[in-house]
Amino acid sequence: MFKTIEEHVRKQVAPAALRAEFRQHEFESMRPFCMLVFCVSTLIWLIFDLIVSFIGGQGFTWLSCLFIALLGCLTVVLHFTRRSHHFDVLNLLFVAVITLGMRLVIEGIPVNLRPVWLVLGVSTVLYAVSVLPVRRWSFFCAMAITWVMLNPFYHTRIDADQLEGAMLISYAAFLSGLVIYSYLQMRQAKLHNFYLSKVLLDQAYVDALTDIPNRRSFMAKAERMLRQSASGQYLAMVDIDNFKQVNDRYGHDIGDEVLKRVAMHIKAGVADQAFARLGGEEFAIFFDGLDLQAAQQRVAALCQRVREDLGVPPVTISIGLARVLGEDSLSMALVRADQALYEAKHAGKDRFVLWTSPLASES
Ligand code: GH3
Ligand code: MG
Ligand code: MG
Repeated sequence: MFKTIEEHVRKQVAPAALRAEFRQHEFESMRPFCMLVFCVSTLIWLIFDLIVSFIGGQGFTWLSCLFIALLGCLTVVLHFTRRSHHFDVLNLLFVAVITLGMRLVIEGIPVNLRPVWLVLGVSTVLYAVSVLPVRRWSFFCAMAITWVMLNPFYHTRIDADQLEGAMLISYAAFLSGLVIYSYLQMRQAKLHNFYLSKVLLDQAYVDALTDIPNRRSFMAKAERMLRQSASGQYLAMVDIDNFKQVNDRYGHDIGDEVLKRVAMHIKAGVADQAFARLGGEEFAIFFDGLDLQAAQQRVAALCQRVREDLGVPPVTISIGLARVLGEDSLSMALVRADQALYEAKHAGKDRFVLWTSPLASES
C-alpha cells in the first residue's frame, strides 16, 4: 500500500502551494541549525583572522572589527527572521560578507599559499550553503558570489593555461557539479517526503467514500473545541432513516450514493462547523458559538434539505441534538446526542430531538 501511494506521489508534480508550505516548514524546523551555521562560521572566521593578524604579523585592524560586527548583525537578524523567503536573501548577504572577510584574511598570507586556501574556503562555503533551507535561485546566487569573491586566479599569480591552473579549473568544475547535484537531490528527497506525509495524513483524516472528515478527524477537532470551551456548543448525531431498506431494495452501490448525497448536504449545510462521517450511515456535527435557537434552526434546515432532495431513492434523516456543558467530556456529549437520536427514531424519524434530562431516564 505504502509503495502504491509513494509511486503515485512520485509521478505527481507537487503543487505550488505545497512547495511554499514545504519551504516554510523546512526553514522553521532548521532555523536553530541555520543559527548554528552562522555562529560557527563567524567564530571560525575570527580564529583564522586572529591567527593571520597576530602569528602572521598582519595586525588586528578596524576591518576585522567591521566584519565581526556585520556577521554578528546578520546573525541577530536571523534570530528574528520568520519567513523562508527572507532567509533566502539574508543568507546571500551572509555569504557575501563572510567570503569578503575570507578574502581579507587570505590576502594576508604568502601569495603561494593563497590558491589552496581560497579553494578550501570555496568548498566549505558551498557545502554549508547546500545543506541550508534555501531556494534554488538563492543557492545558485550564493555559489556565484562565493566563486567571484574567492576566485583562486585573482591576486594569486596562477595562469589558467599552466599545470596548476588547469588542475584548479578541473577541480572547480568537479566541486561545483558535486555540490549542485547533492543540493538538488536532497531538496527533491525532502520535498517528496513532505508531499508523501501530507497525502498519508490527508488519507488518515478523510472518509474514503464520502470525502468528508472521518471519525478520527472529528474526535480530534471536537476535543480541541471542547477544551477551548466557548459558550454555546452543541453536538448533533445524524442517522439516515431506514437505510438498511435502501441497501436491500436498491443495492449497496446505490446505498453508497445515498451516503455521498447526505454527506454533501451536511457539508453544504454546516460548512462552518466541525462535521464528519462517524461510520456506517452515522454522521456527527459539532456546533460552536451558537445559541439553542440557532442550533435547532440549523439541524431542522438540514433535515429539510435532505427531505427535499429529489435524488432517487429519496431518504430522510433523524438527528439527536445535545448541549455540550462546560464539564462534559466528548464521550458524555456523544452519549446524550445518541439518546436524543434514539428518541427521534422512536418519535417517527425525519426530525430532530433535543436532549433533555428526562430522556436519559426513558432510554
Ligand atoms: P434506522 O431508521 O432505525 O436508522 O434504520 P436503518 O435501517 O437505517 O439502520 P440500521 O442500523 O439497521 O442499518 C444500517 C445499515 O447501514 C446497515 C449496513 O448495511 C448499512 N451500511 C453501513 N455502512 C455502509 C456503507 O458504507 N455503504 C452502504 N451501502 N451501506 C452501509
Ligand atoms: Mg444507524
Ligand atoms: Mg439508520
